[in-house]
Amino acid sequence: MRKTGTKVAATTLLCGMLALALPGTSQSPKGPDQDGTAPALVKIAGEALVESHTFDYLTELSDDIGPRVTGSPEAQRAIDWGAAKMRAIGLENVHTEKFSVWRGWTRGTAQAELLTPIRRPLHIDAMGWTGSTSAGGVDAEVVPANNFNFDRELKDMKRFKGKIILIVSEGTPSKTGDMILAQFCDFVRAAEKAGAIAIIGGQGGFGSEGMNLTHTGILGFAADFALPVVSMTTEDQSQVERDVLAGKPVRIHMNVQNTFTDGPVESANVVGEIRGREHPEEVLVVGAHLDSWDLSEGTTDNGMGSASVLGAAEAIVKAGVRPRRTIRFVLFMGEEQGLLGSYAYVQQHQAEIAHHLGDLILDEGQGPVKELQLGGRNDLVAAFQPFVRQMSDIHPFTVNDKVEFGSDTGPFIAAGLPGINMQQDSPDYKYTHHSAADALEAVKPDVLAQDAALMALTAYWVADRPDRLAKPWPPEKTARVLREQNQYDMLKAFGLWPFGDKGRGQPNSNEGSEQ
Ligand SMILES: [Zn+2]
Repeated sequence: MRKTGTKVAATTLLCGMLALALPGTSQSPKGPDQDGTAPALVKIAGEALVESHTFDYLTELSDDIGPRVTGSPEAQRAIDWGAAKMRAIGLENVHTEKFSVWRGWTRGTAQAELLTPIRRPLHIDAMGWTGSTSAGGVDAEVVPANNFNFDRELKDMKRFKGKIILIVSEGTPSKTGDMILAQFCDFVRAAEKAGAIAIIGGQGGFGSEGMNLTHTGILGFAADFALPVVSMTTEDQSQVERDVLAGKPVRIHMNVQNTFTDGPVESANVVGEIRGREHPEEVLVVGAHLDSWDLSEGTTDNGMGSASVLGAAEAIVKAGVRPRRTIRFVLFMGEEQGLLGSYAYVQQHQAEIAHHLGDLILDEGQGPVKELQLGGRNDLVAAFQPFVRQMSDIHPFTVNDKVEFGSDTGPFIAAGLPGINMQQDSPDYKYTHHSAADALEAVKPDVLAQDAALMALTAYWVADRPDRLAKPWPPEKTARVLREQNQYDMLKAFGLWPFGDKGRGQPNSNEGSEQ
């Protein structure tokens, strides 16, 4: 779900540096060469890099399953496929864990034509879980609204009655990208109420990235809208914007047809394990989301992660090694609608969450892993350093305590655990993200094999090292660190802040932002 790219910036600080600067403990952390995990890791690396089938899994998922929107029959095929692959790999306790989605949605058609000042077709696609125009479409005047100042726009919504709203980004934003993302939901609701016809604007109202692509996606966490909201190619939208801002009378014909299904709609996470040899009750979750959007094959978001999970599992099984603690591989569904599968997992496993070591997630596009982001757990950065140093011969990467809440790491971070994000270097992801270009061509097999290898090695090392890596933090501490990492406003705005007043008044917390 996480939108990378330049227009919506992740809110992160370099707090990892603080942990590095702490005085050293009497024992320096041990890496694989000292803690006894190296021989197993060598075998796993061999399987993952020399005998990899990861790209075959990605090809099957992309070409034979294809797009798999949560709650759709295609998504069910993906769930069945994932479970079958886990069994074939030889994982234990393979099963699905059901959860429900508040409402289903199916894309229909989306067409638009510029009527004045010149006549030409415009390329659009509907945003997920948004509605339809009247049958046959509507001709309407286009009126701009500035997402850099929704505060002002929300005070004067009557002027949008009967109009198509074009979202523009003018001047200096008064809020962070995450907050604009959240406030766009309020704006769409207000536009619905004011009687607008449709909105042109992607997630947060932001425009597309170019190459004549549209980008679909959900607008909020588990949020749906009766009003049609569409993404337009930047080449087309830029003309409309130039015309509108020049004061020319701009009229568009727009016909958007989508279908909602009454909820709840059933979905499921796919789960398989390598049971631990000493502490099977202690669990590291290794996962990625199996659901995708539907303008192409869902290869980079997130076939890449799903195939890596399967490739990592296979490498460990075939290496013939068994970690001290359990590695639980999970293909999450419903991520794109608001982390629904990973939230369901944490809720369904509440009784054993104290035995969890965290989760390890890959969901940042098609590039090589460049950072392990430990989800606020600054107490664990030092422990990772020798491991990261030793594994960097495969591909150089670093470790820090940044929080990435916008994928299946989020619910684990909220539970006080390290939701570890395998941050990737994916400059082309801004084009493939939720677009018609999200296809197999975007992925290089060698990069995928390396990412899967690093996932397998990280998972095994965490699960097998003599000392347990992490126990959950108490809510006060998690709340404080999330505030320090500027997550409070965004989580509160999306209704995901579970901590109330906890963590306020601590040094560096963004106190005063709570209203
Ligand atoms: Zn994703």
